[in-house]
Amino acid sequence: MKYLFGPVNSRRLGLSQGIDLLPAKICNFNCIYCEVGATTLHTCDRKEYSPTRDILEEIDTLLAGKHPPIDVFTITASGEPTLHSGLGSIIHHIKHKTNKPVVILTNGSLLHVAGVRSELMAADIVIPSLIQPGKKVFEK
Ligand code: SF4
Repeated sequence: MKYLFGPVNSRRLGLSQGIDLLPAKICNFNCIYCEVGATTLHTCDRKEYSPTRDILEEIDTLLAGKHPPIDVFTITASGEPTLHSGLGSIIHHIKHKTNKPVVILTNGSLLHVAGVRSELMAADIVIPSLIQPGKKVFEK
């Protein structure tokens, strides 16, 4: 599988089936602590950086076969998942095919975009996290 990974045991979420929407590494930030490494495409543009159809096919393949009894689907990325323009379709597809909760891990910086908020409304849990050393740096 190219886009699916795990499942991984998450303290917060239980057994989590990961879905990685982006090739490394596309983000609107370039955090020095990023576990994926340096940002290679630094952008705020939402695009179909990986074929949505291929991601959906992998999800269908997983669901058609034997897989561990996962607790959640977690959408993340080698970068910022809300930059993927197919995010809404992918969330809806999972919700249509399963009764498992869909979780999105995001840096939250695109939540001011109405389209992003609208797509995320279909998810069950949105976990925004942005690590910064204080109010001044955060506002900057
Ligand atoms: S926002 Fe997340 S993915 Fe983007 S550079 Fe920072 S830690 Fe890495």
